[in-house]
Amino acid sequence: MDYRKPNECPRCGFAYTAWNRPKHGTFGERFVKNLKDRPKYGWGPLAHARMAEVEQTRPWQCRCGTWLRAKPWTFGWVDVAGIVVLAILEVMAAARYPWARSPYVFAIPIAVWVMYRVSSQVTVEEVQAETALKPAS
Ligand SMILES: [Zn+2]
Repeated sequence: MDYRKPNECPRCGFAYTAWNRPKHGTFGERFVKNLKDRPKYGWGPLAHARMAEVEQTRPWQCRCGTWLRAKPWTFGWVDVAGIVVLAILEVMAAARYPWARSPYVFAIPIAVWVMYRVSSQVTVEEVQAETALKPAS
């Protein structure tokens, strides 16, 4: 069976998560590039999401030399339902317990849920080096 998990490199089987992907350049270089790219996407949270999406699908080279690209995230009803359920639970808890009225109690479970969904959705595919190195249009 030629089965592999969607987050593993097809050649060497290295498993990628949302967090162990090699980054391009140093933090400083990425920061400058972010500032430069920023106006292309406009401003506001939607622009930030678009930029994160482009960053997510930018190809990178695996340690075995294969060029890989992550598929874009797909957020479906399960993500929205998870957030809605958490929010309802939290509103109920806040009505009952004073400690649950802290904004941290509200934000942290939702952030954990979103992070869990993002990290469980890493899907990589092999790309040709020419495709990977071509500047994104
Ligand atoms: Zn590899």
